[in-house]
Amino acid sequence: MDFAIEDSAEQSTFREEVRVWLKENIPEGTEFPVDPGDLTLEQYEHRRELGRRLGDQSWLYPNMPTKYGGGDLPVEKVVILHEEMGRAGLSLPPYYDAGGRMAAPTILVWGSEEHKDRFLPEICKGRVRSWQLLTEPGAGSDLAGIKMTAIRDGKDYVLNGQKIFVGSSHGAEQSWTVVVTDPEGKRHHNLSWFMIPMDLPGITVVPMNLLTAGGEGGSGCGVKNTIFFDDVRVPAENLVGGENNGWKVATTHLEMEHGGAGRLGERGVIKEFIDYCQDEHHGHNLLESAEARETLVDLYIESEVTRLFAIRNYWMAHNNHPRSYEGSQYSLRRKLSGLDIAEKILEIAGPYALTNDEQYGPLKGALELYGREAITALHPGATTDIQRVIMSRRIGIGRQDREKVGALR
Ligand SMILES: Cc1cc2nc3c(=O)[nH]c(=O)nc-3n(C[C@H](O)[C@H](O)[C@H](O)COP(=O)(O)OP(=O)(O)OC[C@H]3O[C@@H](n4cnc5c(N)ncnc54)[C@H](O)[C@@H]3O)c2cc1C
Repeated sequence: MDFAIEDSAEQSTFREEVRVWLKENIPEGTEFPVDPGDLTLEQYEHRRELGRRLGDQSWLYPNMPTKYGGGDLPVEKVVILHEEMGRAGLSLPPYYDAGGRMAAPTILVWGSEEHKDRFLPEICKGRVRSWQLLTEPGAGSDLAGIKMTAIRDGKDYVLNGQKIFVGSSHGAEQSWTVVVTDPEGKRHHNLSWFMIPMDLPGITVVPMNLLTAGGEGGSGCGVKNTIFFDDVRVPAENLVGGENNGWKVATTHLEMEHGGAGRLGERGVIKEFIDYCQDEHHGHNLLESAEARETLVDLYIESEVTRLFAIRNYWMAHNNHPRSYEGSQYSLRRKLSGLDIAEKILEIAGPYALTNDEQYGPLKGALELYGREAITALHPGATTDIQRVIMSRRIGIGRQDREKVGALR
């Protein structure tokens, strides 16, 4: 049975336009290594070039206002852009950029006009990419417990401390962070939000060796780092949203990270796996087995429900629809169904799904990576426990006063 919803005439014209454009503009050599951890510098640079071309077309962050270099496109066209990038084996943006995905909407809500003019076009045009630096060795789920400080000194703030599990491979032009600006202040009222150029003296990036970078497949994330700040002087005008107001500013990007705006273009590997099952491999057609067919249908349903939750949230966020628990509902489901799908893939493909061996690894090892990422994806962007905590606070189980959603507009 085919659950696809047909494009309207206008959507189908736009889809064709995107397809033709991508064919002409994806630089040669942009093929994705299966594991983003293996992305070479050259491949990364091809993706950055594609990012700049998409930016010139206003398609890199197609939902952002045109005034700042976005496309101001309606939701269905944004979905098409994500789907067509997915068809080409890429994500939108075609590399890891927490700046466009989360910092830009945050600056749109909390930044001054000067901040918007200075930061947003650079991000939307793909001229910079940014990392998100929140977690510290002693503060992950309890983000308000961070210890890194930024103390005002003349025209600058001086930053000292450490962030962990952050960033990706091949560097970034800038990062954004939440740090303590009032060490004596009350919890949640002692923090500020900064945009930081990454070439400032005193910043040291040390790569970490992890199982995977966690659920970032297709975005070129690959690696996580520990980052040390030793007397790093950041100009005071890089503080966004006011001194000691950082917790409020963070509610916007946390809302996005916790799934409040969905996450489009998710189903790449699943679709490829379904296609893979329809062919013969090593003398067998997997779909000859009734059990495999049944499991494959369940797997399709699982992934489709998650995809629809993502589109629903995207639509709600971008149409200013009242929201409450939906972000964490989608995120929790995405994490748990990821594990379940990994198990179903293993049931259908057998031990082949555990190898990236050239001869035996299905989809060049993409299934093996999916299995690894399904495990690490449980943790970043709020763990499954924390998603449950957020949901219960929002629906009035955890607290008497229901927690409010973070502003996305
Ligand atoms: C692959 C990967 C990528 C990441 N990328 C980034 C990034 O780009 N930027 C960034 O800033 N951070 C990043 N992180 C860090 C991530 O956000 C944290 O790991 C996460 O917030 C959890 O924090 P923690 O590891 O300190 O675990 P802890 O907060 O110490 O949690 C440990 C365990 O206790 C549980 N727990 C904690 N509090 C509660 C509670 N109140 N109720 C119930 N259970 C609870 C948790 O669910 C977890 O199982 C990444 C992490 C990973 C693994």
